[in-house]
Amino acid sequence: MPPDPSADQARAAIAAALGQIGFCLPGSITIRHARCGKPRCACAADPPSLHGPYIQWTRTVHGKTVTRLLTPAQYQAYAPWFANTRRLRELAAELQALSLAEIARAEGWATITPGTPAPPRTRPVRGPNPDYPKPPKTPGDQPA
Ligand SMILES: [Zn+2]
Repeated sequence: MPPDPSADQARAAIAAALGQIGFCLPGSITIRHARCGKPRCACAADPPSLHGPYIQWTRTVHGKTVTRLLTPAQYQAYAPWFANTRRLRELAAELQALSLAEIARAEGWATITPGTPAPPRTRPVRGPNPDYPKPPKTPGDQPA
């Protein structure tokens, strides 16, 4: 079945947006300020002057968490690459949602919205199990 013209238009728009996307960095950024613990340091004063910012880039490499500190200049330079990753995920989610709607339309499947009752089954439910209830075991069947 050919794709619905409006769905295909939406797919083309997502593909165009994907084609425009720049570099995408994995992981997340956490910006922290910290106390060093030395009692005479400015970070222990009232009001405190904390150390930092520490710009931590955390990502997973082969199942292990890897952290690297970025300078403020690096963070400023590469923040758009993290924003691109968020955009990439949004576009991928849109494309998947659109594709789900399209397969449901093409195949005549009812769409299932979470929280609503499931549509009636197309296959009969299995009949009663003839082995249930199980016949009682005699004491001789039990391992000692
Ligand atoms: Zn300190």
